Amino acid sequence: MNTRVVPVDPLLPNLDAIEEATRLLRGGGLVAFPTETVYGLGANALDDRAVAAIFAVKGRPPTNPLIVHVSDIAAAAELVAEFPEPARRLAARYWPGPLTLVMVKTGRVPDGVTAGGPTVALRVPAHPVALALLRVGRMPLAAPSANPSTALSPTTAEHVRRGLAGKIPLILDAGPTPGGLESTVLDVTVAPPRLLRPGLLSPADLAAVIGPIDATPVVTEATRPARAPGSHARHYAPTTPLELTADVVGLVNRCLDRGSRVGLLTWRPAAARHNLVVEQLPADPVGYAAGMYAALHRLDAAGLERIIVEAPPPDDAWLAVRDRLMRASAPSASVGEVPAG
Ligand code: AMP
Ligand code: MG
Repeated sequence: MNTRVVPVDPLLPNLDAIEEATRLLRGGGLVAFPTETVYGLGANALDDRAVAAIFAVKGRPPTNPLIVHVSDIAAAAELVAEFPEPARRLAARYWPGPLTLVMVKTGRVPDGVTAGGPTVALRVPAHPVALALLRVGRMPLAAPSANPSTALSPTTAEHVRRGLAGKIPLILDAGPTPGGLESTVLDVTVAPPRLLRPGLLSPADLAAVIGPIDATPVVTEATRPARAPGSHARHYAPTTPLELTADVVGLVNRCLDRGSRVGLLTWRPAAARHNLVVEQLPADPVGYAAGMYAALHRLDAAGLERIIVEAPPPDDAWLAVRDRLMRASAPSASVGEVPAG
């Protein structure tokens, strides 16, 4: 299959491109499109076969449910049996935005979307291109990140192309996605609501609207159905082995002394050295998140023996960044607990 990359204005999406994407989606096809978090691989969420194609193209385990993107609160309400009060308050405050709410589904939502479970994960994305697709297409879009399963998430159309070229007909290219990290996922079917995946909105952002939430980290054994797709221990990972450490100087020295060529991802200035490729990101969690996947994609493409990542600060604002880096550093066969951090 030929994969077309079509440029779209990120603020005022051209209707031609949106209509072409809509035609493909209506026919059961897949379209990669930007959201404010990362690029998504979209399919009509109400079309069983289109949803099955997402799993096939990504190599995603069928036990990993998908997030369904909708145009507004009313469209979300059509897919759930109940819209609990805390969910209403959060949706009113943060939609459109990087917050995914897990609620009890109705029979309209195919089982493939929810991995056979009784709940569906919903969000209204804030990116103008994603919203235009949802509004023009008038269908909910199931859309996980547009990359092969467990690989680094895509924050540019080029990342999507590298991972999925030949497997999907269309990528809408609106430039780099602004947020750079996946949405926060909150299960509102339980009291207090439970954080299933940290993301761009922090637990404090949620607690400010609905009071205390349960933010204990969730990790699912790789062999069992995930409660949340991103909760498998290994995920968001480059193909180059990645090591997360607080002792960057010691580890870099040991590797360079052995003659290894290594990459360093850090939020502090680092001196250039022979055989060391440095990617320095902003020292604030929002700036770091925005650039993190792109920096990891560059390091992964640089033919290095290892990527060393300087552990981010321990405070809450860095929770989602730490979560992704811990999963990226998990060995591929890893099961069980990831440190709470
Ligand atoms: P992604 O693969 O980036 O789209 O991530 C999907 C996220 O959606 C996972 O981390 C899960 O937390 C979440 N998710 C989707 N559907 C459900 C569901 N029915 N129950 C719980 N979590 C879900
Ligand atoms: Mg993903």
